[in-house]
Amino acid sequence: MLGNKILLMLKEEISQLEYERYIKRLQYDEIHSKVDFAIFNAPNPFIANWVKTKYGKKLSQLFEMETGMKTEVEIRTQKQKFIKPPKPIISEQPPSSSTKINPTYTFENFVVGSSNQFAYTAAYKVAEKPGKVYNPLFLYGGVGLGKTHLLHAIGNLNIKQNRIIIYATIEQFMNDFTYHLRHKTIEKFRAKYRKCDILLIDDIQFLSGKEGTQEEFFHTFNELHTEGKQIVLTSDQPPQKIIGLEDRLKSRFEWGLIADIQPPELETKIAIIKKKCELNGIYLSEEIINYLAANMDSNIREIEGVILKLNAYSSLVNQQITMELANNVLNEQRRELQKDISLKEIVDTVAIELNVKPSEIKSKSKKRQIVKARRIVIYLARTLTPNSMPQLAQFFGMKDHTSVSHTMKKVKEMMEKDSSFKLEIDELIHKIQHSRCEKL
Ligand code: ADP
Ligand code: MG
Repeated sequence: MLGNKILLMLKEEISQLEYERYIKRLQYDEIHSKVDFAIFNAPNPFIANWVKTKYGKKLSQLFEMETGMKTEVEIRTQKQKFIKPPKPIISEQPPSSSTKINPTYTFENFVVGSSNQFAYTAAYKVAEKPGKVYNPLFLYGGVGLGKTHLLHAIGNLNIKQNRIIIYATIEQFMNDFTYHLRHKTIEKFRAKYRKCDILLIDDIQFLSGKEGTQEEFFHTFNELHTEGKQIVLTSDQPPQKIIGLEDRLKSRFEWGLIADIQPPELETKIAIIKKKCELNGIYLSEEIINYLAANMDSNIREIEGVILKLNAYSSLVNQQITMELANNVLNEQRRELQKDISLKEIVDTVAIELNVKPSEIKSKSKKRQIVKARRIVIYLARTLTPNSMPQLAQFFGMKDHTSVSHTMKKVKEMMEKDSSFKLEIDELIHKIQHSRCEKL
């Protein structure tokens, strides 16, 4: 394909790093490109802008060299709004043994502050004396606060002791289980999970509603516990709050110790940023570190993402990491978070909050509550997603974009007149963005 050939030509002229991080992630759009107009799709606006600015001209020249035609190059970000997510691939191989412990997730690399002190200490004690102190250890807390890190840290401390350690998310456990059921090799599955010394299971909340897996997990738990083998579980909620979890599991999860992790205070956040910079060989000034800590949520995974992006950007454009760059990258990150919000998420959230059915929102019903919900959805869709008015009109089965613009005007007027309506909208926006963050 011509586009791919051009990218390979470009590869010859740039650094390996740039190629791997940016150019390799472009996809040539063969269907929409023309002889004098080449289109590439980039996975996000950050990469699109970057390639356009740095290599837009170069790409045009390469096309011209190859075809003899002056070619305009456009880098687009894929519109994912109307594309269904691909179905998960059901593997015919047994799921991988999933015991990979990340060697960088150690106790030494974990920054301790009052928000996570209790969980850290509990995990450390368990790691030192598996099966002897708290069994099970149940860690819970919000997204990106270090639960998985602590699980791996327990694994890392024991790896050298010749203990058999299994780390798996509950989803991997479930996939493994169904695979072996299907292939009538359940004994193999049991031999694996019931013969380990330490079982580390991540995100146990996803057991919710999975009865068959709960049953199997119940027996795995009992067998290991009776044998005095250590079990460590993580979740986003304490056991009692996990909806759709059998009582007998809830009560077992409370047998040992339950420890929560709270969002880090500012000082801990600063210390974590410094630690991540040190581990990744990145230099950030005190000012920028404080700025990031103060302006970002407590999800450390997101903070880490921004640090790595900042570093990649500064080394590529050969520019120091300035406050301005930090600010840009932070805004970029926020926009990306917004970009990922889908119309379906908006429809579903509004439907729940206003107590109507999602299908009614897209219907032509003139019932008051439904009309209200529809208006709100359109307003939010236009505000929170990059869909154009004609795209929204199409999605909601409206005549044309003027109906969308009419609705926008109406909602804005209502918000100005009625402060409780405005509050309702603000709360919905918060809900949608918040549930988005939690999924990341
Ligand atoms: P969770 O499982 O709670 O969603 P993770 O354990 O995956 O969160 O943590 C997300 C990222 O944040 C990881 O890269 C982890 O190393 C880092 N992190 C979280 N808390 C800390 C901490 N206290 N010290 C150092 N790194 C941390
Ligand atoms: Mg995790």
